[in-house]
Amino acid sequence: MFELKRYDVIVIGAGVAGLATARALAEAEKSVLLLEGRSRVGGRILTERLSESELPVELGAEFVHGRSDDLWSLIDEAGLATYELGGKQMCFEEGALSECSREGTFDVLEELSENAPDMSFTDWIAEKHLPEEAIQAAIGFVEGFNAADARKIGTAALARQQKAEDAIEGDRAFRILDGYAALPAYLLKKFEEAGGELRLSCAVEAVHWQGGSVRVRVAQEEFSARKCVVTLPLGVLQAGSVVFDPVPQPIFDSASQLAMGRARRVSYVFRDLFWKDRADGMGFLFADEGLPRVWWTPAPNRAPILTGWAGGTSALNTAAMSDEEFAATGLRMLATIFHMPEANLRAELVGWHTHDWQHDPFSLGAYSYAPAGALGASEAMTAPVEGTLYFAGEHTDITGHWGTVHGALGSGLRAAKQILK
Ligand SMILES: Cc1cc2nc3c(=O)[nH]c(=O)nc-3n(C[C@H](O)[C@H](O)[C@H](O)COP(=O)(O)OP(=O)(O)OC[C@H]3O[C@@H](n4cnc5c(N)ncnc54)[C@H](O)[C@@H]3O)c2cc1C
Repeated sequence: MFELKRYDVIVIGAGVAGLATARALAEAEKSVLLLEGRSRVGGRILTERLSESELPVELGAEFVHGRSDDLWSLIDEAGLATYELGGKQMCFEEGALSECSREGTFDVLEELSENAPDMSFTDWIAEKHLPEEAIQAAIGFVEGFNAADARKIGTAALARQQKAEDAIEGDRAFRILDGYAALPAYLLKKFEEAGGELRLSCAVEAVHWQGGSVRVRVAQEEFSARKCVVTLPLGVLQAGSVVFDPVPQPIFDSASQLAMGRARRVSYVFRDLFWKDRADGMGFLFADEGLPRVWWTPAPNRAPILTGWAGGTSALNTAAMSDEEFAATGLRMLATIFHMPEANLRAELVGWHTHDWQHDPFSLGAYSYAPAGALGASEAMTAPVEGTLYFAGEHTDITGHWGTVHGALGSGLRAAKQILK
């Protein structure tokens, strides 16, 4: 009778967490099968190369935030060229565009403490008796960066994040010149060189398991292993679209305490730097009204690309918009900011690029955050289940770097270590 090949480990999901785990295990001479639902690896890293611009457009993760050891060792090992982002910060306030200094605006965030009672950011900031504009600026910042609802995200998690960011120079940001996708591509190459097997377009439907044995079902096929690393995004876990039999209840209870954040981004490629007369060298642009309110260029790189970003409740407000409507809204916003007739702006436009992460069944959201009271939930998700199931992914980061590529990478390396111990 035909017998199923039994792997040492099946890894579900070929984002950064899954690829990092799979590579480490394959290099430790485990037989590893990596199952990915999409027809590509990289997950929430998605680079679009363009004929009209040397610099590619990112549709998912764009920034290498700070100098995390794990991520930079990998970037160096892969020999990827990077550059540091910089440029003037511009503000569009009360209908006028000018260079802004946001210095001091967010000093209040330094008062966040993991040891103080954990509460929602809106409740916390309300106690600070700040002017309304300062409150709105802080809420906008927290929601934009964390893709979070400020009425839910917890101050303890924010405090942990703040500390973690400080430790890696998190105020600096870099880009991989060739596109972020070069990073998962490198991990995949190393995984395959070490003998690992990848199956694309294999959406896992069910994980049947008992101590020391796992069967993973994909459409008409079944794969078997001794252990399984699950790097499904939090949104997918919460939706219950993959059946676990039996349900590892403590893991799912913890997953339900966390929240999947929302973010929407659109990148416009123009013929030229049309903004150079009013805002030459512009890096970030913050608007006090309209949608999107956060914008950036790839400065100091002079590719004529502008990206608009809506995170948290601002992204929630776009929920009913199609990609076309969102892109059109962004273009109108740019016309307002730069006091240009929309038709002139359209004449400058080569194209726009976006991806709807919220409705993508393989992400069901942008990235995770910990609501008030849920600080311990990610850590609880890192506990191996009967030495058989292991959970990884950015939502299982416990170092304060949830929602980032380096957080995902660290979680994948952690799961591999747990298995190899
Ligand atoms: C718009 C946006 C902007 C971002 N910007 C940044 C940034 O600038 N810097 C930064 O550090 N981070 C950023 N992030 C966050 C970062 O992209 C993620 O934290 C990180 O890539 C997550 O990696 P992961 O491996 O945990 O998950 P994923 O990359 O989501 O990997 C999970 C994998 O599981 C697969 N999968 C899902 N369901 C199934 C199934 N049923 N069967 C098989 N496979 C399945 C998915 O296809 C995916 O490949 C951004 C994210 C988004 C969405």
